[in-house]
Amino acid sequence: VSFEEIVGQPGPERALRAALRTGRIAGGYLFLGPRGVGKLRTALVFARALLCDGPGEEDSCDACRACRRARSRVHPCLHVVGEGDGVAEVKVEEVRAVQDRLSLKPMEGARQVVVVDNADRMNEVAANALLKTLEEPPPGATLILVAAEPLRVLETVRSRCHPVRFRSLARESVRAVLEGEGLAAEEADALARLAGGSPGRALALRALGFPQRGETVARRFLDVGRADPAEIAADLAGGEDRPSNRAEARRAARETLFHLAHLAREAMVASVGGDPRTGTEDVVGTALRRFGRNPDRWGKVLRRLLETADTIRANVSVETALLDLLLDLETAWKSLGPNPPPSPSRT
Ligand SMILES: [Zn+2]
Repeated sequence: VSFEEIVGQPGPERALRAALRTGRIAGGYLFLGPRGVGKLRTALVFARALLCDGPGEEDSCDACRACRRARSRVHPCLHVVGEGDGVAEVKVEEVRAVQDRLSLKPMEGARQVVVVDNADRMNEVAANALLKTLEEPPPGATLILVAAEPLRVLETVRSRCHPVRFRSLARESVRAVLEGEGLAAEEADALARLAGGSPGRALALRALGFPQRGETVARRFLDVGRADPAEIAADLAGGEDRPSNRAEARRAARETLFHLAHLAREAMVASVGGDPRTGTEDVVGTALRRFGRNPDRWGKVLRRLLETADTIRANVSVETALLDLLLDLETAWKSLGPNPPPSPSRT
């Protein structure tokens, strides 16, 4: 019953079911893969199956008291740390709090499950504290670390964990997940096109006003060179709809930049004669008319957009980063002229 909640991750599902069936449960797991593809959801499903008192061999029964408690997150032996999309840092206090609870064993041999979401956001002190538990896990304890950027997890921590790799989903699977969440087919389809195989990202985009917002920001972005960069930057940062929470504002700006990067990639592909694949044909057409069919140029724009998204994550003000980007592009585009011929090497 529970594993059926996971869509499009046959590899992890197979591995975890096998672990449950054979009873060979590792002390530490590292669930790694892109954001929003079901890692945390799977971790909770696996945790439930580990804690279940029912008859199931490789899944939870979803009916016993342990399952019900785990599902509503009140099971005393299920500990979740660092959960959330906007988590900037997992701190040592949170790790220590769980370790304290782990040390109060409720029963001899009782299973305990710790899920560390955003394990790639643990600071070094937190990671080193957690390492102690990974090195000598209390009997019956299983730690599941969830990370989109495993290289940010300390090597010493990584090497103590059994890796479980998650992948981006096929667009059809993303659409199916979204329809399962109650979205209309048309909206689910449009979001699935934007979400790069990640249902979680699709839902985050929806909360930010996509898919409609995608076209708005793309058109605004293409005003570079004929409107005030500061005004464009303010609009790209969300204008009046800008989230008041700083972490949210950062995330919204990053999604906007990823969306623009997507546009730049499409323009690059279309510049060498390929077909834009993702329903952005109109905007891509406008982009090419304004700034030319020049794959190198679009490649640079793409890189600059992604760099800016990175900068914004590193605590720089959203406005400053966007304005820097727009000023750079304005200068670059002006120096190249409004619509140069395609570079001869590519045609
Ligand atoms: Zn159960």
